Amino acid sequence: MVELKTDAEIEAMREAGRVVAKALEAVRAHAEVGVSLRELDAIAADVIRDHGAKPAFLHYKPAFAPTPYPAVICASVNDVIVHGIPGKYRLRDGDLVSIDCGAVLHGWTGDSAISFTVGTPRPADVELIETTRRALEAGIAAAVVGGRLGDIGHAISTIGRGAGYGLVTDFGGHGIGRRMHEDPSVPNEARPGRGMPLRHGLVLAIEPMFMAGGRDRYRTARDGWSLHTIDGSRAAHVEHTVAITDDGPRILTAL
Ligand code: MG
Ligand code: MG
Repeated sequence: MVELKTDAEIEAMREAGRVVAKALEAVRAHAEVGVSLRELDAIAADVIRDHGAKPAFLHYKPAFAPTPYPAVICASVNDVIVHGIPGKYRLRDGDLVSIDCGAVLHGWTGDSAISFTVGTPRPADVELIETTRRALEAGIAAAVVGGRLGDIGHAISTIGRGAGYGLVTDFGGHGIGRRMHEDPSVPNEARPGRGMPLRHGLVLAIEPMFMAGGRDRYRTARDGWSLHTIDGSRAAHVEHTVAITDDGPRILTAL
């Protein structure tokens, strides 16, 4: 069931989203060569706690997962697309890192992700990240009253396919509110003009994830969580929580 949010509820979600934005900003500021993913996880945990919020990912167990999620962020490095569990791994020069983070404040959830490089970037990674960001912008621009849900996935996939990247078709965006994953699901590839009409008060997490190798295939690691590209190519993932309003799309997880 799709639940529309009132203006007051959108304001409350904005505050939750701001906490996520601050956590991601802090993680990015600390992500340097030699820093472990576990340390980045602790930084996000501190920011969320300092704002009186709770991590949305910790202990979360969606249907596909074998175990509750053991961390505050997802830290997906290089060929990991999403759901990388932050462990002992220390960042190396040239790594491509995607950090996904969620927080719950006063019962409302924010969900956002960023991708960036560490140390000396590979030009192909810069291009991949920039294109994924452009796809997110295009998806957000399509999140308008009077449009249809499929317009969002169409905007995202047009950019990803145009660049020759692979798309993850089993995972994508979602409604969000009191729960992190609500209806509707927001696929990253869809037909324009199809799907539910977009209305004021619909809040969506929009999250393109592209694979540089150009294939749509991935594999799940033995931990049951992290998705790796099938060909070892690198992947990027960016996400914002966005409210559709009569005044246009409003990003709730911006700083
Ligand atoms: Mg997320
Ligand atoms: Mg999400």
